[in-house]
Amino acid sequence: MLHCYVHIPFCRNRCSYCDFFLITREGFQEPFFRALREETRSRAILLEGRTIRSVHFGGGTPSLVDPRHLEAWLNQVAGYATFHPELEITLEANPEDLTPQSLALWSSIGVNRLSIGIQSYNSRKLHALGRDHDALCARRVTGEAMERFRNVSVDLICGVEGESSALWGADLDDALSFGLQHLSVYMLTVEPSTRLARDVSKGLVQVPGEGELASMYSIASERLSSSGFEHYEVSNFARAGCFSRYNMGCWQRESYLGFGPSAHSLYTLGAAEWRSANVTSLTRYIAEPRELSSQREFLSEKDRRNEQIFLSLRLKTGLDAGLLQRWHSFDPRIDAAVDAFRQRGWLDVNGRTLKVTRKGFLFADLIAEELLLG
Ligand code: SF4
Repeated sequence: MLHCYVHIPFCRNRCSYCDFFLITREGFQEPFFRALREETRSRAILLEGRTIRSVHFGGGTPSLVDPRHLEAWLNQVAGYATFHPELEITLEANPEDLTPQSLALWSSIGVNRLSIGIQSYNSRKLHALGRDHDALCARRVTGEAMERFRNVSVDLICGVEGESSALWGADLDDALSFGLQHLSVYMLTVEPSTRLARDVSKGLVQVPGEGELASMYSIASERLSSSGFEHYEVSNFARAGCFSRYNMGCWQRESYLGFGPSAHSLYTLGAAEWRSANVTSLTRYIAEPRELSSQREFLSEKDRRNEQIFLSLRLKTGLDAGLLQRWHSFDPRIDAAVDAFRQRGWLDVNGRTLKVTRKGFLFADLIAEELLLG
């Protein structure tokens, strides 16, 4: 089973908190899609004979580009690989691009899951995040998307300056009122080199502290769980059967190929397994779109096990405790670490499975660090 990701590196404007690889200049779409076709051709050997379970158009803003380009890429891939009968095709969309016409077009090219960057249903919050849409638009497009698609996900962010628990709760209630299938909840992080980081360092913006963020995260987890959502990954909540296939594939370490600048891949072929990352320069990507321009790292057995530990602890399904003990040659220090996390209420030991608790999800990376193979 294989998953595919396509990075569409274009946005109208850069949001204040965003450090993704993208450009805001126009005029690069045609050469980008030419390069994408060339890259895909050069990697045909990795697609041939494989069944593709999911395709994720991410970015950047995939909803900004002409859907015919995406359709042409899907047709090209269909010439090399087989699409699974239940292929999930997700398109990340920004609210300002959603119209009845665009929804119909995306649906006509095979997109069957929409992931909308709503971020908030509050105009003041959206303005603080530097987003182009307002609350009215957010509500309108969520409703329209739900009428057209059976599987809709919305991204929400908490932790904007001055945000209270009540305001965050209202955002969650707004999202819940639409009967969505999936929600991704992020805490605002101040990434270096962003406008937000500059504003924070100049004292122009004050973001909530860790304690307030943790409390907002708990509110989300409790409210969404009690409304029928499964908290299946640190930042992700879904109704039964509506987990993101692409993201689950990545977290479960299934093979995935990333196309476009800055996209990452994990690929298993026989006993060999490698990760690769495409160049993070659009001009270099356009000039040399072949896989040669990406870095490739073959994974050792230890790398694979550490990845499995790290990723499994982010998932509700958890990690096999027996495997962890064996990998550590039954080192008593691992049992002691597990026990310490259990006493803090961060880990649950359920039979042979180690599961991070709702409280512990916030510390999943920290827990994993302690349990990795040295
Ligand atoms: S729309 Fe998304 S990808 Fe584009 S700048 Fe904003 S946060 Fe970043």
